[in-house]
Amino acid sequence: MSSPVPLRCQCGAVQGELDVSASAGNRCVCYCDDCQAFAATLGREDILDAWGGSDIYQTAPNRLRITQGVEELRALRLGPKGLVRWYTACCKTPVGNMVSTTRSPFIGVISSFVPLDGPGRDAALGPVRMHLMGRFARGGCPPHAHPKMPLGALPGFAMLLLRSVVTGGHIPSPFVIDGAWRVEPELLSPEARAKLSAAAPTP
Ligand SMILES: [Zn+2]
Ligand SMILES: [Zn+2]
Repeated sequence: MSSPVPLRCQCGAVQGELDVSASAGNRCVCYCDDCQAFAATLGREDILDAWGGSDIYQTAPNRLRITQGVEELRALRLGPKGLVRWYTACCKTPVGNMVSTTRSPFIGVISSFVPLDGPGRDAALGPVRMHLMGRFARGGCPPHAHPKMPLGALPGFAMLLLRSVVTGGHIPSPFVIDGAWRVEPELLSPEARAKLSAAAPTP
């Protein structure tokens, strides 16, 4: 067991910690249009890499604790079938993505919520194991990325999900209270979502 990794929004109002282990987490960079649209909606495209990628650590929700400022958490969905995407109200820091059920067995913690850069982030979260959905990347698919979802990534992710389901990894979670979302996720209007797509640079 390694010591917990700190979590912190940009302004510091929201803080927490994350338990990291190689068997219970998976780090990837996602270039998909929805992850880019989420950052754009918050006015936080600064969190994306040069190709528009989001650096994400996937793990079970019960491995994450909020120690301060939990009341600042908010959630957004880009469409009726979209992920529940958490951020902080205080400084619009992207926090993490979950599937749209309170029993979501995973959260993809976004690196903007991890106050570590470069080698420090690699040491804390492990190396990025895949770059996916590169066909949505700015300027075309980066050479290091898979255009969609690499099939080789699926067994690892499936094991992560299975382990979480078997161990009840969806609770306790700072995002769920008595089986309900802490705050009801806001649903982005189709018009607002379409505007984001139109604004995205075309490869
Ligand atoms: Zn903040
Ligand atoms: Zn994505």
